[in-house]
Amino acid sequence: MDPNSLLDGVISIFAPQFNLLMKYDVAVIGSGPGGYVAAIRCAQLGMKVAIIEKYPVLGGTCTNVGCIPSKALLDSSEHFYNASHSFKTHGIDVNGLSVNINQMIKRKTEVVKQNTDGLNYLMKKNKITVYTGTGSFVSTTKIKIQREKDSEEIEASKTIIATGSKPSSLPGVTIDKKRIITSTEALNLTEVPKHLIIIGGGVIGLELGSVYARLGSQVTVVEFLDSIIATMDRALGKELQRVLLKQGFKFYLQHKVSAVKVNGNVVKVSAEDLSGKKLELEGDYCLVSVGRKPYTENLGLDKAGVKVDEKGRIEVNEQLQTSVKNIYAIGDVIKGVMLAHKAEEEGVFVAEMMAGQKPHIHYHLIPGVVYTWPEVAAVGYTEEELKSAKKEYKTGLFPFKASGRARASMDTDGFVKVLADKSMDEILGVHIIGPRAADVIGEAVVAMEFRASAEDIARTTHAHPTYSETFKEACLMASENRPIHF
Ligand SMILES: Cc1cc2nc3c(=O)[nH]c(=O)nc-3n(C[C@H](O)[C@H](O)[C@H](O)COP(=O)(O)OP(=O)(O)OC[C@H]3O[C@@H](n4cnc5c(N)ncnc54)[C@H](O)[C@@H]3O)c2cc1C
Repeated sequence: MDPNSLLDGVISIFAPQFNLLMKYDVAVIGSGPGGYVAAIRCAQLGMKVAIIEKYPVLGGTCTNVGCIPSKALLDSSEHFYNASHSFKTHGIDVNGLSVNINQMIKRKTEVVKQNTDGLNYLMKKNKITVYTGTGSFVSTTKIKIQREKDSEEIEASKTIIATGSKPSSLPGVTIDKKRIITSTEALNLTEVPKHLIIIGGGVIGLELGSVYARLGSQVTVVEFLDSIIATMDRALGKELQRVLLKQGFKFYLQHKVSAVKVNGNVVKVSAEDLSGKKLELEGDYCLVSVGRKPYTENLGLDKAGVKVDEKGRIEVNEQLQTSVKNIYAIGDVIKGVMLAHKAEEEGVFVAEMMAGQKPHIHYHLIPGVVYTWPEVAAVGYTEEELKSAKKEYKTGLFPFKASGRARASMDTDGFVKVLADKSMDEILGVHIIGPRAADVIGEAVVAMEFRASAEDIARTTHAHPTYSETFKEACLMASENRPIHF
């Protein structure tokens, strides 16, 4: 064992008793994908690192109540849906199929545990000291860690704030966490709702709606805007809505929710459309998924002089430095898309900046994914953005129904849309709805990072039969309007 780390270990055990101040090069507050990745990269670069997490488990929203558990339930529910809807056509007869929701939730919890155990291992491997408790600034270099019964202070030359976000609500809607719930409770239901009303047609609402629709719930989505997944290319929202309608979803677009009330086991949602026409819905659960807000409560930002903007996000400059030069912030708590991989990239970026390197994040090329079925994934400019920027572009659109691989798996809904610069042929945006779009988009991201033309991809060999051939075909169409299979 490294004698220095042995000494550090001994000091850290006795530090609180003898009021010794443990000193670190870097303290990271929050252990989500931003925080733990930043901590690991700092440690790899030779810094002495502490990570502070208020919950007894590491991993933050993503690992505990976000990306990982939602995907575990999406996978389980998809198995059930396929078993009841397409197995027969595949030649598999199953009788007496039923859902055991408790087992499904138990498996999800085990998946989360495997991931949080993995993080404990990674902290040990990288000799990162883990503090459990709420971290708050005492000054620009001192952080107090408050536990239930006691507290201690540590000193850090530099701090990375990675405290993430929490669900938002609507004015007048009180989340009781029993019948009016957020995504966190929706990941832990003990029964399959009969009628789940979802406020918000964004990514989280549609993913969790998909889980329960596949398990037999009636799912109704009430959305204020005129499209679901409205920040993505409009063609994606249109196609996804068409497919989800086939799966039994109901949609009320351009409806503003005015009240949500609980009476026993019944939730009543009141809304009205643009003309003022009233809509009253009754269900047994209402999931409020109208976005998330940055989380900075109890951080003592004022004691360190760290500023927030009008939306409550920590203000950062291009180097992700806050208004205080030795304090950085990353992930959901700052501007930008609220995605785990964006937080991770920022974690690595800040660590490398601190080490004097010159890292770079191409924010425009952060892919966005919706894990419905079919999946939706996109990177780069939407068609609407290109139009409003008056950029000349050409389009290649290849449908999955023309893909041999998609026919083999009976996943023929959706398409790949490639937008390329009209004269230079550079790929400007890729928008996919279809099977395994989340994986196919990776190729588009790499292509765009290297500023590939549509012809570059069209002339690259793609294994047959694969879903990724659809990207090649869409590039052939965008580049020279000569797809082979359509
Ligand atoms: C249901 C759901 C599904 C999602 N699915 C995806 C997905 O598929 N892909 C994707 O990219 N993103 C997904 N997201 C978003 C993703 O979870 C977040 O973007 C990501 O977790 C942000 O990482 P972060 O490190 O910034 O913060 P978080 O993961 O929120 O972590 C912040 C941590 O800081 C801790 N903390 C806060 N304050 C303090 C304090 N004062 N002291 C100590 N600790 C503190 C919190 O307890 C928390 O553990 C999903 C989110 C939800 C809710």
